[in-house]
Amino acid sequence: MEVNELQKKEFFSWEQFSMFFDAWCEQHKVLFIVKNSVSLSKCKWATAPPQPSVVDALKYSSVRLGCKGVRASGKPQNNRGQQKGCSANIVLKMSPRKDRLVVTKCQLSHNHAICPIEFSYYFKKGYLLANSCLPVRTTNRISKRFVGASDVSRLLSYCKSRDHGVLDVLTALDGLFARDPDAKVKLVFQQDKVIVQTVFFLSSRMMELARRFPLMLFFDHMVGLNAEFDLYTVLCVDGAGRGHEVAYCLTQRQTPELLRFTLVSLVQSVPEVKARVRCVTLGADIPHLEVVQELLPGARVQICRSQVLEMLFSKAQELGAAEDARIWPLLCSLAAAPSAAAYHQAEQEMQAVLPSAFLSYYRCHWQPRSQMWVQFWAFETARNVNACELLRRHQRQLLSALSPSPTAAQCILDLLAMPDGEREGDSLDEEELAARYHALCLPEPAGLIAEELGFARHGPQGFRTT
Ligand SMILES: [Zn+2]
Repeated sequence: MEVNELQKKEFFSWEQFSMFFDAWCEQHKVLFIVKNSVSLSKCKWATAPPQPSVVDALKYSSVRLGCKGVRASGKPQNNRGQQKGCSANIVLKMSPRKDRLVVTKCQLSHNHAICPIEFSYYFKKGYLLANSCLPVRTTNRISKRFVGASDVSRLLSYCKSRDHGVLDVLTALDGLFARDPDAKVKLVFQQDKVIVQTVFFLSSRMMELARRFPLMLFFDHMVGLNAEFDLYTVLCVDGAGRGHEVAYCLTQRQTPELLRFTLVSLVQSVPEVKARVRCVTLGADIPHLEVVQELLPGARVQICRSQVLEMLFSKAQELGAAEDARIWPLLCSLAAAPSAAAYHQAEQEMQAVLPSAFLSYYRCHWQPRSQMWVQFWAFETARNVNACELLRRHQRQLLSALSPSPTAAQCILDLLAMPDGEREGDSLDEEELAARYHALCLPEPAGLIAEELGFARHGPQGFRTT
């Protein structure tokens, strides 16, 4: 093997080195791992430190890669065993000019045979690059599990670079735990990559609200929060018909099975809700509604009526409906039908006004589910909750709370700072709270106030004070 091809070789980023080295390892069928490294972001500088862009690009001031010491002759490898590890190794250091990484040492004689089969079994392309932020084995291990305050601070201490915003997300979660040690957080990383796929989180106040008001839940989807992420929110509704967030799920766009993941995580966080939810209202674009009944056996499914209406209207145009002023009112009377007879009447009228392509689309997708979205069958009508309005108001609230095109981390910070009474409520004692609440809720039935005040004793911060 030619030593000189590596010796003194220069790289202007860790990524550049990683890609070169992957190809070189594939060519020579050798496996190297990072034995030790000094991260640039953690270096102390007596003289001028390197530029932040250099820190991001190079990542390390020095790295020692050692041969993985693939076991020879079929004997099981024992890390602590007698068999001496292979001493082949490569050292990279930042150049004195602090602008590149240079191979300063290169010892490539192995004490074992090179085995292409084992190489192809163990080699993971991109592994060096992925590991440069956090060890991939760590992210794989904690992925899809609840993490606690200590897990997050441990991850933060391992975190060597700002790649993919992982450090920022962890810092935001660390802030959440600092204020609320009982908060629930589940992190999902992409398999074998240090890229956050999904963050599910709820504060202890949100858990309390879910316990208190589990009857009706709303699953809201904010599309295209930024180029990368979508935001899902679970809301409950209090006795006065106001929505409160009980869980957030921030996820890479097009992540499948989000409804299942979110509901499972919510039930794991607040197991009491499982049997007590009676209705879940979802946005019209959420697939796999059968998940709701599977996970919340007492719940029926509703689809947000106004979203269905808008979807039907745009579909009608897409499927060639004529410019006809009757279409919108007709679809409205369909969705808002106050009786089964009125619904069937509106359905009949549709045949005269709408093209057959739309009618078959409707029969296939929306007619079988009419009990999920037509007003007459709506669960919330009996409870005086306007689901559409609640979801619309929530979307408006999100829009005003979230920074424009936030990063995932900024979104977490914005959501946690959303004015839902938590911080204002903290400063109020119970009496003052009761007084304000009475002032706010004079028209409400007395029983409702009593109920709310009962809640106040458990979680006095659970009120809007505006
Ligand atoms: Zn070796």
